[in-house]
Amino acid sequence: MNASPLVIVGASYAGTQLAASARELGFDAPIVMLGDERHAPYQRPPLSKGVLTGKTTLDSLPLRGADFFDVQGIDLRLGHRATALNTGAQTLTLDDGSILKYGTLALATGARCRPLPVTGSDLEGVFNLRTLDDALRVSDALSKATRACVIGGGFIGLEVASALAARGASVTVVESQPRLLARSFPPLMSEYLANAHRQRNVELVLGRGVRALSGASGRVEHVELDDGRRIDCDMVVLGIGVQPNVELAQQAGVACDNGILTDALGRTSAPNVIAVGDVANTEAPTTPGGPARMRLESIQAANDGARAAASALAGKPQPFEGVPWFWSDQHNLKLQMAGLAMPGDEVIARGDMQTDRFSLFYLREGAVVAAHSVNRPAEHMLSRKLIARRVRIDPQQLSDESFDLKTL
Ligand SMILES: Cc1cc2nc3c(=O)[nH]c(=O)nc-3n(C[C@H](O)[C@H](O)[C@H](O)COP(=O)(O)OP(=O)(O)OC[C@H]3O[C@@H](n4cnc5c(N)ncnc54)[C@H](O)[C@@H]3O)c2cc1C
Repeated sequence: MNASPLVIVGASYAGTQLAASARELGFDAPIVMLGDERHAPYQRPPLSKGVLTGKTTLDSLPLRGADFFDVQGIDLRLGHRATALNTGAQTLTLDDGSILKYGTLALATGARCRPLPVTGSDLEGVFNLRTLDDALRVSDALSKATRACVIGGGFIGLEVASALAARGASVTVVESQPRLLARSFPPLMSEYLANAHRQRNVELVLGRGVRALSGASGRVEHVELDDGRRIDCDMVVLGIGVQPNVELAQQAGVACDNGILTDALGRTSAPNVIAVGDVANTEAPTTPGGPARMRLESIQAANDGARAAASALAGKPQPFEGVPWFWSDQHNLKLQMAGLAMPGDEVIARGDMQTDRFSLFYLREGAVVAAHSVNRPAEHMLSRKLIARRVRIDPQQLSDESFDLKTL
C-alpha cells in the first residue's frame, strides 16, 4: 500500500462518494475521512421533508451500511474538525492540535446556512436547517408550536413550509423577491408554485424583506417586515441560502471565488489538493450559452463530481459530462429538474398545469436544454436523455401529449 494517505475533510455525500469510488477504481492508499458532525454520513434531503413530517425514520438516514467504512479500509473519524491547512508541508491541523500529513487532500466541506443579518435572529425559537441535529431541533419545536414563519422561499424554505403545514402548523413564508424561486424558475413556474402553496394553506408574503425578529423573554414572537407589518409566530425557520465552507482553502491561499475553484476533475490551484461537492465551483461541460463554471448544491453534483475526482486519483481520469438534475418534494408535488434553464430560453408546457402533472421544457437554439417536471417522473427521466443528446424538437410536437417523446 502507498503510505501517503488521501485525507478527506467532510464526511457527507461528496466525501463518502469520493472514498467509495476511489476504492472501486483500485485506489489503494490509506484513506482518512474527517467529519465535524457526530453522526456517520447521512442523507440530508429528508431533513426538510420526511424527518419533519415524521414519515422518515432516523434509522433509514445513513448513507452507507454500518460496516462500509471498515470493509473499504476508510478510517472515518467523526467529531474532528480541520482547522488549518499547509499546502507546502502537505499537512492539516485538527481542532485537538494534532497534525495529519496527506498525500492528497480532498476538501469536501460543503456549505453552511447563510445567517440572517437582523436583530433578533439569535432569539430562541429561530432555527437553521442544514444538519440532522438542526432537523431534530426544528421537529421538537414544531411539536409545541402552532404558528411558524419560514424566511426564504427557496427549495428548502418551501419544503419546510410544506412539512410544517402537514404537521398542522399555520405557516407563513416570507420571500424578499417578488416571486418564488426566481433564480431557478421562469415566472410561469413561480406562479404555479405560489398558487399550489396558497391552495395548501401556506400563506406567502412576496417581495418583502425582514427588518427584525422580536419577542419577549428571549423567545421569538414576531417577524417584523420592512413595510411595518408584523407576523406573529412561535417559531422561525431560516431558509435564505448557504455559503460554501471555503475558509480552510482560503487561508491556505487556494484560489476561491464563490467556492473553491476546480477543473472538471476536482483539481484546485494547489498541488495535491482537490475539492468536491457543494464547496467546489467546477468547470462545467460546455453547452451553448451555458455557464463556464458551476457550484451546484445537489446530491447529483456532489456524487458525480466526486466520481470524476476519484477517477483522476485512480489514474483513469473521466470528467463528468452528464446532465445536472435535482428534485424537491413540496406537499404532494414531486418537482424534478434537469439541465440548466437560462433567461431567454423558449418555454414549452406539456400537460395541464392545473392538474399538477406537467413538464416545462426549455429550448435553446431549437434543442432541449432543460426540463422542469411536476409529478411526471418518467418524463423527467426521458428529459435527461433528450438534454444529454441535445435533441432538436419541434415545439408543437413537444406540447402535443399524443406525440410519444420516446420516439425521439
Ligand atoms: C435540508 C436539506 C434538504 C436538501 N434537499 C435536497 C434535495 O432534495 N435534493 C438534492 O439534490 N439536494 C438536496 N440538498 C442539498 C444536498 O444535501 C447537498 O448538495 C449535499 O449535502 C452536498 O454534499 P457535500 O458532501 O458537498 O456537503 P455537506 O453535505 O454540506 O457536507 C459537508 C460536511 O463537512 C463538514 N465539515 C465542514 N468543514 C469541516 C471541517 N473543517 N472539518 C471537518 N468537517 C467539516 C460539515 O459539517 C458537513 O458534515 C438538501 C440540503 C439540505 C440541507
